[in-house]
Amino acid sequence: MKKPLSTLGTRPLGRRDRLWRSAIAFSRMTVRLMFGTWLAGAFVVWLVPGCLPVAAAAPAPVRVLLFSGQNNHDWRQTTPKIQAILTASKRFTVQITERPDLCDAATFARFDVILSDWNAFPADAKIKEWPEPMRRAFLDFVRNGGGHVVVHSGSSSFMEWTDYRRLCGSGWGKDTGHGPIHTFEVKIADPDHPITRGLEPFRITDELWHRAEQQPRKVLATAVSSKDQGGSGGDEPVAMTTEFGRGRGFILLLGHDTQAMEAPGFQALLTRGAEWAATGKVTLDSPKTEPKP
Ligand SMILES: [Zn+2]
Repeated sequence: MKKPLSTLGTRPLGRRDRLWRSAIAFSRMTVRLMFGTWLAGAFVVWLVPGCLPVAAAAPAPVRVLLFSGQNNHDWRQTTPKIQAILTASKRFTVQITERPDLCDAATFARFDVILSDWNAFPADAKIKEWPEPMRRAFLDFVRNGGGHVVVHSGSSSFMEWTDYRRLCGSGWGKDTGHGPIHTFEVKIADPDHPITRGLEPFRITDELWHRAEQQPRKVLATAVSSKDQGGSGGDEPVAMTTEFGRGRGFILLLGHDTQAMEAPGFQALLTRGAEWAATGKVTLDSPKTEPKP
């Protein structure tokens, strides 16, 4: 006769079996306790507001040192305008100095990018040179990874200072000129650069320089310099970048006055260029600028 399946292999429990079953039961209880403790801990973490998962923190503000106080343009108007454009983007903090010649390495160490609305151009300029220690600290700041931005005539100082000219990339040269202020279109020459990616052509009422100084640089945007407007008849670079050691230069030849600075395209180039010069990246949105009608 067959034994029922349920009784197959059964036998009275011995001492060894009881010990073995107790060990298994103890292990199961321990695992349950550990899991319960973990679950309770996770629940507490979820309840504590400080431990709640949050969106990635906003990047730290880009710290701009804005050189001003001397320029053959109306720096008393343009410098506050540049400051307002940068701070309105909520990406920058801006400190203005009207005595860049008094800055030193300790000053530069508190900033990510230097932006120049200053030049030594005026015939009656009080400051014609920067002291040698300041020049060294200035170049070291950029060479070690700092950013440098020039706006319009902020590009045009120290024509004999080779390193400064290389960093600025362009500026007022011996063949440079311009026609009257008029409205023209700015075209994006390099749509793949972080500064110009996503930007559309835009119109601006500004002073357009032709035959500006040409140092080694990358051209991001140009405008046709119409002969009808006293120009060269060719495409003239208006936005460029340079490299200097581990640092980055951004050159914006637009921005003769505050009216020009009202153009959304100018503001996009200024803010995106300043962010890129400071960090090597652009996180700011590319706004829809006014396309050609
Ligand atoms: Zn000008």
